[in-house]
Amino acid sequence: MTDRSTIFAVSSGRPPAAIAVVRISGPRARLALERLAGRVPEPRQATLVRVRVPATGEILDDGFGLWLPGPRSETGEDMAELHVHGGHAVIASVLDALGGIEGCRLAQPGEFTRRAFENGKLDLTAVEGLGDLIAAETPAQRRQAFRQLRGLIGDRAEDWRRRLIEALALVEARIDFSDEADVPENLIAPAVRSARDLRDEMAAALADKHRGERLREGLVVAIAGPPNAGKSTLFNRLARREAAIVSPYAGTTRDVLEVHLELDGYPVTLLDTAGMRDSAEPVEQEGVRRARERAGSADLVLWVTDLSAAGPLSDQAPKLAGQAPVWLIENKIDLVKCQNAKSSEQRRRNSEYEFTFSTSAAKGEGLDPLIVALSGFAGNYFAGGEASLVTRARHRRELEETVTAIDCALAESAAKDPREELIAEELRRAATSLGRLTGRVDVEDVLDAIFRDFCIGK
Ligand code: GDP
Repeated sequence: MTDRSTIFAVSSGRPPAAIAVVRISGPRARLALERLAGRVPEPRQATLVRVRVPATGEILDDGFGLWLPGPRSETGEDMAELHVHGGHAVIASVLDALGGIEGCRLAQPGEFTRRAFENGKLDLTAVEGLGDLIAAETPAQRRQAFRQLRGLIGDRAEDWRRRLIEALALVEARIDFSDEADVPENLIAPAVRSARDLRDEMAAALADKHRGERLREGLVVAIAGPPNAGKSTLFNRLARREAAIVSPYAGTTRDVLEVHLELDGYPVTLLDTAGMRDSAEPVEQEGVRRARERAGSADLVLWVTDLSAAGPLSDQAPKLAGQAPVWLIENKIDLVKCQNAKSSEQRRRNSEYEFTFSTSAAKGEGLDPLIVALSGFAGNYFAGGEASLVTRARHRRELEETVTAIDCALAESAAKDPREELIAEELRRAATSLGRLTGRVDVEDVLDAIFRDFCIGK
């Protein structure tokens, strides 16, 4: 049974602040306004009110009151807002007064959005988009989250599901009425055609090089290389240099540190991997293993070497990086007397890399070209193509399952003696995956579509 209690919470930021917005949602929202503000303003019109403790009449504050009757509200329920001064004591007493009204209680995390979802105001992808919008750290992330909140993937998925159900309805009709003389023989062919179109559209959406997911999580750039080459120094330089560091924090292991940068409006997660030397010590081995794994799944590897170090040159980088491009960072140029005198061995090695940069991480030299190139890399990665529909592994999984199911349906339809029940079954499975994507799964739609779209005359 759905919870019919009225919920309230402070929806604005951490106090003390200039203003706090207290939101109320549920059947007693109107009563709460009457009790605290002494009146119910015109719908959707901010109105100056005096907020009092209902029991004693003590004045708490002057502020704005808003009456937002459902279903045209964010949660779909009756809602009210009180905008009061954002001090701890003001907020505490307003919440206290609301809690004193029978049937009203403090909201749980995400509960307003939860109600909006349950009342059909937002689908699941829009709920995710809303979460992403709140978490967005860069303009590109904000734009993507807003598109998702406004239904970029949700509307598309709903359209796909509608068409899929129509195709399914054709097949079902063929099955249900196959012995009737006035049912056209070939209902399967248009269903198959439509399923094939849908499949191609979804496959195209999936072939986006994971751009949407990367935009959400940040493009991963790993700094790797032999011990003492200056990786940590470079990492700290890049992290501190960029004015727009968003949230520096230590990674979950002591071996991989990460920092979030904003480069030309795009999110980049920079990783500092531990020195990758072969070690007999188990803890260190584990660290090296993790570092390799993380660097191996990066989108770009900066392979740092110590230009002043003697000894054979490492050819470890390209192997380590897997598919990701590797840029060579020749560090400690300050220690090398004559930089132009590169050995032929060095020149040969450099030609294996897409780009080579010469830096002194310690002195902060040579970093500008690197940062410009990194921004360009991020820009190229994200800017190509249209906005991604898929922004999470969940979307990808559901869409892939949908495509797989349609493929099975198509394969069956191409068989020598196609079994219509199996085609219907696979299309139904596909529609269910799509329904899971937007958070609405109800097969009753199939029946509705049959009787709405086909005048069988029964
Ligand atoms: P990591 O093991 O690759 O992370 O290397 P670190 O960043 O810890 O640096 C190893 C040593 O090299 C430290 O003493 C740094 O101060 C020094 N170092 C790093 N970059 C430079 C550089 O560009 N020039 C010079 N002279 N020393 C550097």
